[in-house]
Amino acid sequence: MSSHVPRVGMLGGTFDPVHLGHLRSAVELYEALALDQLHMIPAQQPPLRGQPQVSAQQRLALLRAGIGETPGLICDDRELRREGPSYSVDTLMELRAEYGDQARLVMVIGFDAFLKLTQWHQPERLFTLAHLVVIARPGYNDPLPASLMELVETRAVDSVEKLMQRPCGGYLTLELPSLMAISATYIRERLEAGKSVRYLLPEPVEQAIEHYGLYQHRE
Ligand code: ATP
Repeated sequence: MSSHVPRVGMLGGTFDPVHLGHLRSAVELYEALALDQLHMIPAQQPPLRGQPQVSAQQRLALLRAGIGETPGLICDDRELRREGPSYSVDTLMELRAEYGDQARLVMVIGFDAFLKLTQWHQPERLFTLAHLVVIARPGYNDPLPASLMELVETRAVDSVEKLMQRPCGGYLTLELPSLMAISATYIRERLEAGKSVRYLLPEPVEQAIEHYGLYQHRE
């Protein structure tokens, strides 16, 4: 019997739409953490943003097109299949049940999302299910608020090796090699204004957006 302990990552987000900042980060995380799989999991629709809305199924289709055949990356629609609000703890519980007690489960978030972590549903419970890896994002360097510091400081480790010694409970910040100052907000703004988004997202995603006329301003 193989004694390989699986290493599994989860990168959640709105992916509205997915872009190269997400995908390049995902590939670099897969390598840096030596993952077996990285689940990219679109969340249910956030509250109205005042811009043309794209359905969850369309966001999912764009994510699937963006990932294509990339080794190790999984387009995972479990939160869209679930009724009601989607909490990361519920998603992590499912992944934990699927991969087993010994699996190294890692929840990854960008620094901007991390700054809001204390407002999440049961943030301390996340650490009973997974490790937390926070990736740097250009333009976000704010100091950590005290409540956030309190949540993570006793869990901090300084290397992937130390993180992977246990199945869950650790906190690591990572600066991935290709920091990209790309956001979905910027892409939606450009599309709404009829401007080019070339090289900000994968070609098949750009083509699908164009083909279905997504995010474009309508009278
Ligand atoms: P929006 O501009 O609509 O808020 P976004 O570009 O931040 O969207 P999300 O779907 O909210 O994209 O992001 C999902 C996750 O990916 C979050 O944890 C976010 O911090 C991270 N992320 C998004 N863009 C980047 C990027 N360019 N580099 C690193 N991490 C990113």
